[in-house]
Amino acid sequence: FGLWLLSGFSAGFACIMWWLLGRPRSPIHELARALQAREFVPFLQPLVASDSEQLVGAEVLMRWQHPDAGLIRPDLFIPQAEASGLIVPMTDLIMTEVGEVLAARQACLPDGFHISFNISAAHCRDDRLLRECRAFLARFTPGKVVLVLELTERDLLVADPHTLSLFRQLDALGVQLAMDDFGTGHSSLVYLQQFHVDMLKIDKSFIGRIGTESLSEHIVDNVIDLGGRLGLALVAEGIETRSQADYLKGKVTYLQGYLFGRPVPVRQFCDERLTGNSVSAIDAEGTLLAP
Ligand code: C2E
Ligand code: MG
Ligand code: MG
Ligand code: MG
Repeated sequence: FGLWLLSGFSAGFACIMWWLLGRPRSPIHELARALQAREFVPFLQPLVASDSEQLVGAEVLMRWQHPDAGLIRPDLFIPQAEASGLIVPMTDLIMTEVGEVLAARQACLPDGFHISFNISAAHCRDDRLLRECRAFLARFTPGKVVLVLELTERDLLVADPHTLSLFRQLDALGVQLAMDDFGTGHSSLVYLQQFHVDMLKIDKSFIGRIGTESLSEHIVDNVIDLGGRLGLALVAEGIETRSQADYLKGKVTYLQGYLFGRPVPVRQFCDERLTGNSVSAIDAEGTLLAP
C-alpha cells in the first residue's frame, strides 16, 4: 500500500510540475505575454504623391519582434489577435509608439502628412478607438498630420447604429477612412456608401499584373474611374516596377510599394526619410531643441 501511495504522489507531483513548467502555451497566452513585453513594433512604409513622387505619408505595418523567432509578419499573428480581441490593445500600443516618435520630429514632417493604421473590424465597434485617435492627434500641431484608418472589405463590417455613430465622431475629428485591398472582398460598394469612405487602396494583386495581363489593367482602370466619379482619393499599393508607376501616374493620387521603399522600423523611417534642414534641431533623445 505504501508503494502504491508513493507512486500516486509522485505521478501527481510530476503532473503539477509539467503544468507549471513544461505545458505548451496557447497562442493567445503567447500574444498576451508579447503584448506585456511590448514586442509588437510599428514599421512604416512611405506613401508618395503619384505626380511628383514626393513623400506625403506612411502606412504603419505591425511586426512581432519575437525574442526567439525573430521578426514575425502580421499575417501569421493578426488573425489570432483579432479572434482574441488582443488586436485592440496591440493597435493602441503601436499608435502610441508612432505618435511619440513622429511628434518628437514634427518639425521635419511635411504639413498634412498622412499616417495610416490598419484597423480590424472589432476595433470599429469599440469606443476606445475614438479616444486613441484623439490622443494621437493631440500630439501634433493642427494640420500637421492626417490620420487615416484602413479597413479591409474582407472584414465583415456591420453598419449598426453604434459603428456608424463612432465613424461620425471620427469624421468630426478629421479622421479619414480608407478601404484597403479594394477589389478582393465582397460588399465593397455597399461599404463605400455606408461608411463615407475617403480613399480607396487598389489591391496589389491587380497592380502586380499591370503590363502582363489586360484583365487586371481593365479592373484597375475601372476602379480608378469609379473612385474619380465618387470623388475619392486613390492609392495604388504594391508598386514594384517603374513601368507600373508610369502606368498609374496621373491616374491615381498616391503610390505605395517596394519601388519607393520597404516598411522599416519607425525610428529608421524618421532617420532616413525625414531629413530636412530642421533635423539638426533634434537632439539624440529625439526631443526638439529650441530653434
Ligand atoms: P495591407 O494593409 O494591405 O498592407 C500592405 C502589405 O503589402 C504589407 O504587408 C506590405 O509590406 C506589403 N507590400 C507593400 N509594398 C509591397 C510591394 O511592392 N510588393 C509586395 N509584394 N508587397 C508589398 P505586411 O506588412 O506583411 O502586412 C500584411 C497585412 O497584415 C496588411 O495588409 C494588413 O492587412 C495586416 N496588418 C499589418 N499591420 C496591421 C495592424 O497593425 N493591424 C491590423 N489589424 N492589420 C495589420
Ligand atoms: Mg493597409
Ligand atoms: Mg470623412
Ligand atoms: Mg492592402
